[in-house]
Amino acid sequence: MHIGCHLSSSDGFLAMGKTALSIGADTFQFFTRNPRGGSVKPFNKADAENLVTLLQANNFAPILAHAPYTLNACAADEGLRQYALDVMKDDMFRMDHFPGAMYNFHPGSHVKQGVDVGIEYISSMLNNLLTAGQKTVVLLETMAGKGSEVGRTFEELRAILDRVELSEKMGVCLDTCHVFDGGYDIVNHLDDVLDEFDKVVGLKKLKAIHLNDSKNPMGSHKDRHEVIGGGFIGLDALVRVIKHPALKDLPFYLETPNELPGYEAEIKLLRSK
Ligand code: FE
Ligand code: FE
Ligand code: ZN
Repeated sequence: MHIGCHLSSSDGFLAMGKTALSIGADTFQFFTRNPRGGSVKPFNKADAENLVTLLQANNFAPILAHAPYTLNACAADEGLRQYALDVMKDDMFRMDHFPGAMYNFHPGSHVKQGVDVGIEYISSMLNNLLTAGQKTVVLLETMAGKGSEVGRTFEELRAILDRVELSEKMGVCLDTCHVFDGGYDIVNHLDDVLDEFDKVVGLKKLKAIHLNDSKNPMGSHKDRHEVIGGGFIGLDALVRVIKHPALKDLPFYLETPNELPGYEAEIKLLRSK
C-alpha cells in the first residue's frame, strides 16, 4: 500500500522526503507555493534532484503537488483566470523536475456564471496550460460542492476532460471527504459509487486518493476534513476504500487535521489493516 500525507514545503524538497520516511510514508503531497497567496521561492534545482534521488532509493509512489486553492480557473474576472494559468504554467515547469509526479488542482468556482461557463473556462485554461512534451499529469480534484464549486459531480469532471485536447495528460484525484460531502455514499455503497465513476469518467483516469474522514454527514457540501475514524465516514469505510480492488494500488494522501505524530499514527493504523 502506498500512503503518505500532506507535508509543509517550507524547508524545501529533500526535507519533505526525509520527513515522509520518518513517519512511515512512501509518498506525500505538498503545496507548490503559499496556498493562500501564490507567492513562491525561487526553484532550487539541486534540492529537487536530491529529493528525486531519495524517492528512487526508497521506492516512493508518485508524489503529488497541490495548486494553491485560491486559484480560480473559472473566475468571472479575466485577470484572475490569466493569473491561474500563469501560476500553473510555472508549477508545471517546477514539477517536471520530478519524474512521475502529479499535480492536483481544484477545478474552480463559477461564481454565479453557471456551471457550463465554469466548465468552458476551466477546459480552455487546461488547453492553454498542457503541452505535449510535459511529463507531469494534472489531476482534477473531486469537490464537495461548497458554494459554486465545479467538480462536485462525476459528470462535471467528465465534461471538463472531454474538452481537453491532451487528455492523456489529465486524471482525477478522488477526495473521500469531498465525494461524501458531495452526496456520494461511499460508506454504504462504495461499489455503486465506483461503478458510477467508471461509467461516467472511467476508472483508468483515477490516479490518486485523498484519504480523509468528514466532520459532516453525507451531502453536507461543507468540506471539513476529520481525522481517520473520527468522522461520519468512519474507519471501516475508509479501510474498505484502501482495500478495494479498483483502488488499492493507487497512492493515498492523508489531508486530515493532524501534526506529524498524528499522521504517523494514521499511516501505521492503515498499514496494519
Ligand atoms: Fe484539495
Ligand atoms: Fe483533497
Ligand atoms: Zn477538502
